[in-house]
Amino acid sequence: MAAPKVAVVGAGVIGLSTALCIVETCPSSSVTLLSDQFSPSTTSDVAAGMLIPHTYPGTPIHVQKQWFKETFTYLFAISNSAEASEAGIHLVSGWQVFKSTPKEELPFWADVVLGFRPMSKAELQKFPQHRFGQAFTTLKCDCPSYLLWLGKRLKATGIQMYNRKVADLWELHSEYDIVVNCTGIGAHQLVGDKKLFPVRGQVLQVHAPWVKNFIRDGDGLTYIYPGIHRVTLGGTREEKSWSLSPDPGTTRDIFDRCCSLEASLQEAQDIKVKVGLRPSRQCVRLQKEVLSQGGVKLLVVHNYGHGAGGFSVHRGTAKEAARLVGECIASLRGSSSRAKL
Ligand code: FAD
Repeated sequence: MAAPKVAVVGAGVIGLSTALCIVETCPSSSVTLLSDQFSPSTTSDVAAGMLIPHTYPGTPIHVQKQWFKETFTYLFAISNSAEASEAGIHLVSGWQVFKSTPKEELPFWADVVLGFRPMSKAELQKFPQHRFGQAFTTLKCDCPSYLLWLGKRLKATGIQMYNRKVADLWELHSEYDIVVNCTGIGAHQLVGDKKLFPVRGQVLQVHAPWVKNFIRDGDGLTYIYPGIHRVTLGGTREEKSWSLSPDPGTTRDIFDRCCSLEASLQEAQDIKVKVGLRPSRQCVRLQKEVLSQGGVKLLVVHNYGHGAGGFSVHRGTAKEAARLVGECIASLRGSSSRAKL
């Protein structure tokens, strides 16, 4: 059979990394990327890009750990290469602090990040309102740079990218053999997934180059994440809010919460505000589906619903989606050789 035609829909971190994994693992396929928005206009551009996993209650922990480990290993290799600055990937050390000792003193990802340990008494003195803390080194993505880098790598493989809004996956059946759905919160409308809901997040990006260590309040709501150019201050988690407009009261609240963790931020300059909708679900939808109309079939692989942790697990879920695409290609080959008999 001719090279199977694969359309990846979506150009956030999930669509770009999934397209790249498909090109790497299924070289016989012809991959096209379709999206109604590209960087810098995706949710992925708004993310802080820290590799600290979010927990998906509907996914076994060993699977989540595997996704995180694959992502960490992939980005760690980039951070150790000459590509690091163009790809916007760097190591960052810091502290996760708690007002009381958490139930789970050792998170499942403790042995994936580097140098995970309880904070010393001397370190905790910096946080008089907190009684317990963990120190570790992890990776951070400068998200727009990383998305550009992924896009550049994809273009170098020869894949085509088109600006197109897909109203119904079925509209792609006459042009493509397999469709990979990486539309993030867009899947709510595209495939009518009622289990998918937005969790609005507002963050500030400030100029405070003296802040070198990350600080994260244990509940994950307040955080200070230094990046290559700017420091991200967060945040909010507003379930089922679709508003993309920044809220000035929330901006003040985020700023005050972050200053109570790191007083020197009072001197931060040039505050920019960003809002994004996390594509949230009990579990990432990572599965095959066969759509069928009037005896005609379209193979679909879904990879969306990464909520608050898309950067932390993107490479792991992209590899699994590419494996599912490989299975679809094998089944197409099987049916075309049966048809010839
Ligand atoms: P998106 O980036 O939204 O991409 C979806 C793509 O699909 C877009 O290109 C869109 O245009 C396209 N699309 C949608 N519908 C259609 C359609 N019908 N037709 C064609 N194209 C379509 N994660 C972390 O791991 N670490 C963090 O520190 C972190 N911080 C965050 C901070 C904030 C404030 C927010 C909001 C999120 C944060 N996240 C973080 C989560 C992370 O941003 C998401 O999990 C991730 O960006 C989801 O990526 P995605 O590619 O699925 O979605």
